[in-house]
Amino acid sequence: MPARLAAALFAVLAFLPVVPAHAAAPEVPDRIAAAWRTDRLYVDDRLTVPDSELDRIRAAAKTAGFPVYIALVPQTPYLRKIQYDLPTLLQARTGQPGLYVVQVVSGDYWNGIEELYRPGGLKGKSLISVISADKQRLDLVNDRPAPQVVRTIQQAQTAYDGRPLPPIAAEDREPERPNRGSSVTDQEDRAAFIGLGAGGFIGFVLTLFLAFRRKRRPRRVGAEPNSYVTEIRRQADLGIRKAAHAISRLEAKPRLTLEQLDQRDDANRRLAAARALRADDPDGLLAVAGALLLSRQAQRAANGAKVPPPCFFDPTHNFGTTHVDWDGVEVPACKLCATRMAKGQAPRGLHVKSVPYWTLDPADSPLVATGFGALTDDLPERITGRLDDAR
Ligand SMILES: [Zn+2]
Repeated sequence: MPARLAAALFAVLAFLPVVPAHAAAPEVPDRIAAAWRTDRLYVDDRLTVPDSELDRIRAAAKTAGFPVYIALVPQTPYLRKIQYDLPTLLQARTGQPGLYVVQVVSGDYWNGIEELYRPGGLKGKSLISVISADKQRLDLVNDRPAPQVVRTIQQAQTAYDGRPLPPIAAEDREPERPNRGSSVTDQEDRAAFIGLGAGGFIGFVLTLFLAFRRKRRPRRVGAEPNSYVTEIRRQADLGIRKAAHAISRLEAKPRLTLEQLDQRDDANRRLAAARALRADDPDGLLAVAGALLLSRQAQRAANGAKVPPPCFFDPTHNFGTTHVDWDGVEVPACKLCATRMAKGQAPRGLHVKSVPYWTLDPADSPLVATGFGALTDDLPERITGRLDDAR
């Protein structure tokens, strides 16, 4: 890298605070968790929510059969960044099992993020699978918080003990749209489009996923991965769940713009590749790191955010929002790696069996060949295509 550019880069970086990967201003989660000590229904001071809404939420929470923690908060730029992590951040603070629901309002549009933490580990269905299967949720009004919160509690009850989902209350149902005829046609068009595009593709990948899962399972016996791989794998699985959740939220919107359809397709291709990696190689560091990265990118796409490339040196780092010169090639790098390089230090690369991953044979893995997608933009297709060849 030319010295002047390096100096300029360093000058810029010198003013950037170095923050850990998931640093977040602590105020919002702390404030909510503190308030929950006296009342498990938190309403942000800036909001005016009618008592009738709060009464309905309280009544539903009381009959849940497990603790229900609810926060009603306004959308802010800070919250937009962390909202999909909020249930996790909050549960980490209370340490209690239960249903965590964060309802965010933007204008008069309410949108929820929820997570069910069961005592004694996972049993029964996942909350996400119940939500995805609940077609009635698409008819809920979203200009007030109670309909969605009450429904989420019902969905969690179904996930918890398998009871059937009740029909949604008539007052919570969106009125029939006046131009029903044309909207049905639109939906049919969209369904056809989805069936030919993402849907068919996802279905195909899912089949592969299940086939590989079945085939590879015995290999896992006796081959316990080390704790670093276990942690990355845990984060990848969490990321995959969040991405699936974000996609189903996007799809639940009454009408998607062309831009949103593109975002959904991009999210789906990344999510499919993440799942394929997890299924194909459950304990490999390259695969779990790739799955983590792709699931994070899928979340960004589904949430309508720009999808940045990874840090070339390690896909588990923050995204590669800076560019650095690496042996004459410009590669994306996270701020931490860029700072180290500007100081003349070696970047902290992802090591596989004590060598940097980029020294491995690119012919063996599309993850190596593309620098986890830092060098080319077709990583998802290379992963899913490769599995296709393997069949
Ligand atoms: Zn980095």
